[in-house]
Amino acid sequence: MTLLVPPQAVTPSRTRDRRIRLDLNESPFGPLPAVEDALASDISRVNRYPDFLPDRLREMIAAHLGLPAHWLSIGAGATGVAGMILSEARRRARARGVEVPELATAIPTFDGYPILAGMLRMGVAEVALTPAGGVDLDGLARSVGPDTAAVVLCSPHNPTGAVIADVELRDFLDDVPPSVPVLFDEAYREFCDDPIDVVALLRRHRNLIAIRTFSKAYGLAALRVGYAIADPVIAAALRTWEIPFGIAPAATAAVPVALAARAELDERVKAIRAERDRLARRLTEIGSPPLPGQGNFVFLPGDDGLQVGRLLASVGVIGKRCGKYGLRLTVGDAESTDTLIDALRLTAWTA
Ligand code: PMP
Repeated sequence: MTLLVPPQAVTPSRTRDRRIRLDLNESPFGPLPAVEDALASDISRVNRYPDFLPDRLREMIAAHLGLPAHWLSIGAGATGVAGMILSEARRRARARGVEVPELATAIPTFDGYPILAGMLRMGVAEVALTPAGGVDLDGLARSVGPDTAAVVLCSPHNPTGAVIADVELRDFLDDVPPSVPVLFDEAYREFCDDPIDVVALLRRHRNLIAIRTFSKAYGLAALRVGYAIADPVIAAALRTWEIPFGIAPAATAAVPVALAARAELDERVKAIRAERDRLARRLTEIGSPPLPGQGNFVFLPGDDGLQVGRLLASVGVIGKRCGKYGLRLTVGDAESTDTLIDALRLTAWTA
């Protein structure tokens, strides 16, 4: 990897017991020096509560996006934000008499969605992915009914990395009743070739809610910050779910510094995309091609993928087994790519 940041900024994906963890789609990069300084200067104040509500952080993120702050709601990672959106969607569905409000989603998807639906006692309307690993937007639109509280779309999709094109999202939003909230989860937005201008779409489709996170490209997963961008009326409803003192001061200190480091972010994203393409090429060479995807991970579908996962686990490389569907591998550093490819070469897999 060619990096603007010093090489020691790459935190090895190895755990203390020498296993390589490639199962959580984490960034291989540790904090930028400026972020580390901001965190260090904050540590002496841990006896103090953070802001009652994350209004300063909201202002800073909004200024970065060029949006008014009242379009935003902030939570504990994209997971926390998704929980707030689903809580509000469920509340509204119950208020109109739906006994078991449903979440419509592609399956497989980010584990957080079925988990949150279970916590909120919501039903899940599952729509299978296309054979190429894409979100079946027509199928999802058809699955929307009177009990649907919300629909979730991820782009890039977890675990396949498939993206939804601007025109596809527009058509979908035209097909879905405007009363149904559509969560557009952009956790991996920064890794996309051509991310959608969701803000332009939001002005036309008031039921669209974009979700973003600092956990992936920004590499701040432990700080737990994410946000929703939504129509001001919806954003105001979401803010009623913001937990008092819920965002740690470390997040408020680190996020503006991370946002200001645009050149370093671009450099890191470029390096991860290059490593993703190298990993995909090497896997293809040894007869295990991943699906084409645009996240910071690759997906090896079906039984072959699951078999690769078992072989890698036996040599201490931990991928994410996605039910019966296949194996997701996070793009780590050059060493983790080389280690896993060498391990597969040495096994019966390539015989
Ligand atoms: N959405 C998707 C699609 C994800 O894959 C993930 C994390 N794996 C999240 C949301 C949650 O991210 P966060 O750390 O911000 O809660």
